[in-house]
Amino acid sequence: MQVYVLVRPGELALCEVPRPEAGPDDIVVRVRAGLTCGTDVKAFLRGHPKFAMPTSFGHEFSGEIAAVGVHVRGFREGDAIMATPTGPCGQCYYCHRDQENLCETIMETMVLGAYAEYIKLPARIVNVNVYHKPRTMSYPVAALLEPLACVLHGIESVTVRPDDTVVLIGAGAISLLHLLALRAMGLERIVVLGRRPHRAQHALRLGADRVFTDGLVAARDQVGDYTQGRGADIVIECTGQVDVWEAAPHLARRGGHVVLFGGCPPETQVRIDTQRFHYDQLRIVSPFHFTPRAVRRAYELLASDAFAGEQLISGVYALPDLPRALSEHQSGNGIKFAVVP
Ligand SMILES: [Zn+2]
Ligand SMILES: [Zn+2]
Repeated sequence: MQVYVLVRPGELALCEVPRPEAGPDDIVVRVRAGLTCGTDVKAFLRGHPKFAMPTSFGHEFSGEIAAVGVHVRGFREGDAIMATPTGPCGQCYYCHRDQENLCETIMETMVLGAYAEYIKLPARIVNVNVYHKPRTMSYPVAALLEPLACVLHGIESVTVRPDDTVVLIGAGAISLLHLLALRAMGLERIVVLGRRPHRAQHALRLGADRVFTDGLVAARDQVGDYTQGRGADIVIECTGQVDVWEAAPHLARRGGHVVLFGGCPPETQVRIDTQRFHYDQLRIVSPFHFTPRAVRRAYELLASDAFAGEQLISGVYALPDLPRALSEHQSGNGIKFAVVP
């Protein structure tokens, strides 16, 4: 089968390797859609601490079951499925405390290789994070399961009311997934801060009430005006940049919630205003990854009519065109791109 290998930053190779075989507890999936993701773009451009190279890569996918291990129940060859690239061990300290996102082995056992014809999923994924794809859902939309699970896990870390005002910082795929999820939860007052005007326009089409593109300093006044001077009930940072982490709390009201969603580069620190943190009782959280609970909710949301997932897929490329799909993603010429073997 064909698989893309990230040889070193900036170098991709389409290689021929043996098709994976299913062990007794595995399933092998014939990939029908892999989605580009900011993480992949970053790994391609400058490497990634979690991806030792050379490595196969791509972690958002959906497909059709090509082979099933003898112990696997509930899935058959030919079933259309959607899945995440990780699963918890179910046995460690964190797994026993419903914090499976922090499972001791969840990241090191991540399955990479969605940019390939086939991908093998081990028992820990098969047991909890594989779902049958509804017939009416497209494969690219089904592949949104993983990023949407991350987003819903993040939203779960704060209290959301339908009349809340939410500020989303960033106008990329993760921000827009938040936007769609919050809209589906009935929120109407959602503001998106973006730097690229055409991406921000996309946010308006997807249901943002306002879009501000004048930068974070100007946004303080703009968000102030929008909220009678209070600031937003919830601020969600979706960029993973230190200066944006530092700016995010300034957009929140007293007693507001701040979600720092995007992971920052290693060995960086942020400063927070202690007076606002304490006397304005800000709640600042930084959720990581997702639990099986969030995956289930992502599945249910994708399957509902309330979620316009199709709007996030900006184009479809054949597998050999992966480099083009990544560069389109990187240049912001769309939200996410599907790569179809
Ligand atoms: Zn991703
Ligand atoms: Zn565990």
